Amino acid sequence: MVYLNGNFLEKDKAFVSVMDRGFLFGDSVYEVLPVYQGNAFCIKPHLERLSESLEAIKIPNPHTHEQWRVILQQLIDHHPQHADQSIYLQVTRGCDANRKHTYGKLKPTVYIQSSPFEAARKEDFLSGLSAITRDDIRWSQCNTKATSLLANIMYAQEAKQNNVEDVILCRDNVITECSSANLFIVKNGCVYTHPKGPHILPGITREVVLECADYCGISTEEVPISKEELFDADEVWISSSTREVLPITKIDNTLINQGQVGEIWPLVFDRYQAEKNLNC
Ligand code: PLP
Repeated sequence: MVYLNGNFLEKDKAFVSVMDRGFLFGDSVYEVLPVYQGNAFCIKPHLERLSESLEAIKIPNPHTHEQWRVILQQLIDHHPQHADQSIYLQVTRGCDANRKHTYGKLKPTVYIQSSPFEAARKEDFLSGLSAITRDDIRWSQCNTKATSLLANIMYAQEAKQNNVEDVILCRDNVITECSSANLFIVKNGCVYTHPKGPHILPGITREVVLECADYCGISTEEVPISKEELFDADEVWISSSTREVLPITKIDNTLINQGQVGEIWPLVFDRYQAEKNLNC
């Protein structure tokens, strides 16, 4: 079952017009939310970020937060066989009579789907993952969660072809984030990540990871990280709603911490699992 503009229907019965600006221009925003034990995780910050993305590109929010909560819970409840789910939610500017760059008053299109989701298991990541670095060629409004993701999908495909987990992006020698995740380093017991702003997506998981580190008594700083600092880190982690928090031990064929997952990642990973259970 998927949700499209007020109706729950089978996915193969869900269609949008070729005149939809989401299709023609990528004129739309989205959210991805994990669901644990039938409850959407961090629903409030996800709905707040959705409101901010819509506001940033001047699409009127078609629903109140309360209405969004009801719709999401109905969709989740349509899949009782999957306790853990991944929700994809997209709002486009809507359909116009003709294809033109400018727009008038349109009715936004709302599409939401749920997929079964299997969260990361710690034992699968004890050797860490690999990544590659590339120049960050994206626009300077990366804090809007827009579906126009051409640069991101090109990086993701490059990661796939290189058999690595993700691409770490570097803008003017500053590490921003990954193609679909935020990035952290640990040095001398302190966790560092890029500050919020136009060059990164303000990840919901990023906030939870910072809270988890804080809970574990580990200091955190939101400051720019240079490429040299990345390679000199004791630990490197990535975070996203569907990957949670994962360790990277090899970047561009260079080992981080001699290829060993450090001591802090397991603490933060465990705390993250506890946060998930608290939410349920
Ligand atoms: N940065 C980018 C570019 C992303 O696409 C994503 C998630 O898709 C993230 C960071 C992580 O965001 P979140 O933790 O809200 O999933």
